[in-house]
Amino acid sequence: MRLIFFGPPGAGKGTQAKRLEEMRGLKQLSTGDMLRAEIAANSAIGVDAKSYMDKGELVPDSVLVAMIEHCVKQPDCAKGFILDGFPRTIPQAEALDAMLARNSTPLDAVVEFQVDEEELFARVRNRAAQTRAEGKEVRSDDNEDVLKKRLDVYKAQTLPVLGYYQNKGMVRSVNGMKLVEDVSVDIDTLLGL
Ligand code: AMP
Repeated sequence: MRLIFFGPPGAGKGTQAKRLEEMRGLKQLSTGDMLRAEIAANSAIGVDAKSYMDKGELVPDSVLVAMIEHCVKQPDCAKGFILDGFPRTIPQAEALDAMLARNSTPLDAVVEFQVDEEELFARVRNRAAQTRAEGKEVRSDDNEDVLKKRLDVYKAQTLPVLGYYQNKGMVRSVNGMKLVEDVSVDIDTLLGL
C-alpha cells in the first residue's frame, strides 16, 4: 500500500506512520527525518537545508524529489510506503505522480490529519518541555515562533496539494485531535486494514 500522510506540522503524521511501519511493514519516508540525517552528517545537502529549516521555510523541490525518487526504489519499500511530509508543494506532487507512473506504482490514498492551530501550538510547547525534561536537545525548528512561520508556509505552499489530490478523489480525512490510539483505529478503518 502506498500512502501520503498529509497535514500541518505537529499533526501526528510521523507518530502514526511509525506505527503503521511497525505493524504492517510499510516504510515510513519522512523527508524531515532524511534532511535532519543529512544535517547530522554535515553533508552539502544538510548544510544547505539547515538554513531553510531553521527559518521554517521549505527546502528547494529538486533536493526533495531526488531524495524520494531514490528511496521508493529501495527493497524496503517493496510492501509499500508512507510519505510523511512529502509532497509539500504542487511541483513536488507532480514530480511524485510522474515518478510513480513511470514505475507503475500508483498511490492508494492520501490521509489528511485535521488538527486545530491552537492544538498545534500546545503540542509544540509540550514537546519542548518534555524533551528538556528528558535532558535532550530541542529541535531548532520546534518552537512557537518557527511554528508560526511553518504554518504560514503550509497554508501558502502546501495546502494547495490537498486540493490537487481532492480533485483526484484520493483524500480520506481523520480527526487528528483524538487520542493517538483512537487516531490509529480511525486510520486502520478508513484504509480497510
Ligand atoms: P518535518 O520534519 O516534516 O516537519 O520537516 C522539517 C523541515 O524540513 C520543514 O520545515 C522544511 O524546512 C523541511 N522539509 C521537510 N520536508 C520537506 C519537503 N517535502 N519540501 C520542502 N522542505 C521540506
